[in-house]
Amino acid sequence: MMPTPLRIAGLIEHAAKWHADTEIVSRLPEGGLHRYTYAAAHHRAKQLAQALIKLGITDGDRVGTLAWNTHRHFELYYGVSGLGAVCHTINPRLFVEQLIYIINHAQDRLLFFDLTFLPLVEKLAPHCPTVEKWVLLTGPEHLPAASALPGLTDYESLLAAETGDYEWPVLDENTASSLCYTSGTTDEPKGVLYSHRSTLLHSYAASLPDCFNCGARDVILAVVPMFHVNAWGIPYLAPLNGCKLVLPGPALDAASLYELFESEKVTFSAGVPTIWFGLLTFMREGKRRFSTLRKMIVGGASCPPALLRAFDEELGIEIRHAWGMSETSPLGTVSTLKGKHLELPEDAKFFLKIKQGRVIFGVDMEIVDEAGQPLPHDGVAFGDLLVRGPFIASDYFGSVQPGALTASGWFKTGDVATIDPDGFMNITDRSKDVIKSGGEWISSIDLENLAIAHPAIAEAAVIGVPHPKWSERPLLVAVRKPGFEVSAEELLAFFDGKIATWWRPDAVEFVTQLPHTATGKLLKTQLRKDFAGYELG
Ligand code: ADP
Repeated sequence: MMPTPLRIAGLIEHAAKWHADTEIVSRLPEGGLHRYTYAAAHHRAKQLAQALIKLGITDGDRVGTLAWNTHRHFELYYGVSGLGAVCHTINPRLFVEQLIYIINHAQDRLLFFDLTFLPLVEKLAPHCPTVEKWVLLTGPEHLPAASALPGLTDYESLLAAETGDYEWPVLDENTASSLCYTSGTTDEPKGVLYSHRSTLLHSYAASLPDCFNCGARDVILAVVPMFHVNAWGIPYLAPLNGCKLVLPGPALDAASLYELFESEKVTFSAGVPTIWFGLLTFMREGKRRFSTLRKMIVGGASCPPALLRAFDEELGIEIRHAWGMSETSPLGTVSTLKGKHLELPEDAKFFLKIKQGRVIFGVDMEIVDEAGQPLPHDGVAFGDLLVRGPFIASDYFGSVQPGALTASGWFKTGDVATIDPDGFMNITDRSKDVIKSGGEWISSIDLENLAIAHPAIAEAAVIGVPHPKWSERPLLVAVRKPGFEVSAEELLAFFDGKIATWWRPDAVEFVTQLPHTATGKLLKTQLRKDFAGYELG
């Protein structure tokens, strides 16, 4: 067989040749919709590569982005990685200190940003000495008259100076292609460096029927941001499969998303539970229905059963629960039923669908106890979740102390899970969030899911607080829905009969809002600080 290396540029070359007239539609931060084809996108990605080379960008250099999902960001994915440099997508929702840390750690040489982030970039620039040039992702008409940013240029002028007459280099497939930092839910942000090979293998795996199941008849709307683990691979798997791609820009509110779903005839989408909750409320309020959307992925955080049920049963969408992390590219598992499950009663099917699911090819997983010994796949025993495979990180970018892997080469996810005999994995907690009561583990996720099933509760988090006898006991911190009343006693009574009595939280505290990370996950480190020294009555 030919030793053809797997390269990211090969994806856009393929789409430009075989799906030349398939569209990419984006909502722009400057306003309005932009529409062009894979052929045009390929030409502009090559113009970008030429411009980058002229700016001195070469193999392995990091080029940062602070940008929404747009066609220009898509071009950066291909232009930067295609020439052999590293496309470093940065999450603009992080704190300024975290952004400065990440840009300096990555040593980004150029930084491309959307107009929305100009005020943020002006704050960052004095602290980011490695950035030689800041490029505004827009045309010259939007360039500010005066700016303190070194060498500020607009993107369109950079491209306009190039011919697009460029051949992508034939890179070794293990060349680094892109970089994402984890959102720092539990620690300092850590960089995960992907390669052309890992990205291509992940794109094939993500396209499979039991995963995203996308083909040339699909229209994909990437709700998940391109700064959140490469939008879960969508910017790569869309050209691989010849899917029409819809990019929502900064407008992630339910009304704007719904408008795009309908006007662009979207068939597939992927996003985190928080976004889908907002969309669900909007759909219910206006008694709305989707005309073309038929399947969606929910992941990035545990999907509350009520959300899955509502999209599945009320709106008739095939919604799949997926698990992954920055270190897994990110897709690890998807909860898709096997043939033998189709005859099961609805409740039994739902019990499987709400789990995090089965591995996709390219990922292997195990659960182990505290001594590192494998635990049975009986759906009951839970332990540390380990994964391995060609698109799983072996270490962190620029890390001085190796140690992400076990002695036998598995990556420690930091999640705690069960695996059932059919291979369905179920996350019970992050290892740092597990509540240890009298030597036994209590799953905070199970308790949170139960709490939000109460009609008066909008959001809930459960943390362990010190207890003299049991060492730790669960404390439920909850947000009431506006206009709803429920007392602590009533909420606790709601748990009766639904879980083991010793799992029932010892106390409830009501708050007006819960702390979240930049990717919308509960920030339990903050919550533990807020409730440090909490005394159970
Ligand atoms: P960070 O590790 O900084 O939060 P990631 O985006 O990589 O950034 O988060 C990965 C983590 O998110 C996983 O280890 C897991 O704890 C959580 N997660 C992702 N998807 C799910 C899911 N479907 N159910 C439960 N937890 C999930």
